[in-house]
Amino acid sequence: MRTPTLLFVLTVIIASCQAQSPSQPSPASGTTSEAAVPADTATPSATADSIGPDSLRATADTLVIAMTGDIMMGTTYPTTQLPADGGSQVFRDTRDITLRADLALGNLEGTLLNGGTSTKGSGRYSFSFRTPPSYVQWLVEAGYDYVSQANNHANDFGREGILSTERTLDSAGIAYSGISGRRASAIVERGGVRYGICAFGHNKYTYRHRDLALVDRFIDSLKAHCDIVIVSFHGGAEGKDRSHLPQGSESFLGEDRGSLREFAHHCIDRGADIVFGHGPHVVRAMEVYKGKFIAYSLGNFCTPYGMALSGISGYSPVAEVRISRDGRFIDGQIHSFIQQKGVGPRHDANHSVARQIRDLSQQDIPASPLRINADGAMTLEAQP
Ligand SMILES: [Zn+2]
Repeated sequence: MRTPTLLFVLTVIIASCQAQSPSQPSPASGTTSEAAVPADTATPSATADSIGPDSLRATADTLVIAMTGDIMMGTTYPTTQLPADGGSQVFRDTRDITLRADLALGNLEGTLLNGGTSTKGSGRYSFSFRTPPSYVQWLVEAGYDYVSQANNHANDFGREGILSTERTLDSAGIAYSGISGRRASAIVERGGVRYGICAFGHNKYTYRHRDLALVDRFIDSLKAHCDIVIVSFHGGAEGKDRSHLPQGSESFLGEDRGSLREFAHHCIDRGADIVFGHGPHVVRAMEVYKGKFIAYSLGNFCTPYGMALSGISGYSPVAEVRISRDGRFIDGQIHSFIQQKGVGPRHDANHSVARQIRDLSQQDIPASPLRINADGAMTLEAQP
């Protein structure tokens, strides 16, 4: 949830090779981002009326975190494929959830840029994503506090794209991290709680999740400065037949993408409180490990163009999780949406993705105490 007066983002670990030091958005930058929201679509307040019956509420002792997968709101490359109304409705059905959360997180699968030159070319199987910077206002309106750049599209327009994306997010007061040599991690303060967030990917220009010494450094640093530590990762093989979480390492297109099960457990063992993934373009299992929540893939979330959306590829969950102030999972809700081409995620009364995640979790991590109901409600099995 956006709270501009409390906005406080700083860089914990700054790689030194950049001439332009990562900026530290001030409260003023948060105010700027609010000003970017048109008056007729002003950010709704999280009143009791806007909170659905299946929602979670933070209390004095608990926090609510909302997480989503890949976000690519539309692209102007190689041709213009943008949603209607300038993208104002892409988060129409999901924004109340991300807005009311104490912290809302997602994966920005692309760049926020005008112009520039693609690093990938424009072949049939070459995808470069370039979203108009003005679209950042829809992330603001939906209450996003942080987006990951550690993915396989953040470098689609090279350094120019990365710098433009950083500038755009800075001006909107949205924290980010994940590009190697740029901002390593972010600290976001909301409601007096300091959240430390780092993001890892599998591309060489990202901070890589296979580099566990690096992962340890980031988590240790955040742990020393923050109340809650959250790790985002973009990883795993991609495609409709990759929903199951393998044991051990997995590879895709000849690239070893590591063992995500081991990675996530390693992060928790090192001190992380939540680990959430994306990258396969389909969802994967969830679990509670040593009292901490892990989502192995949240799949596509808001990708109205540029991605296949048929069948399970169109399933787009919001994972809303309530944790204690010491980071332990209490309960949660998988909110189910299905993406429509050119539109974005829309309510799914059949709870399709919740039921899919329930089944995958039962099959792939049967020992986990996490219980997922058909409507997406998440609880902990009573321990003997
Ligand atoms: Zn990706």
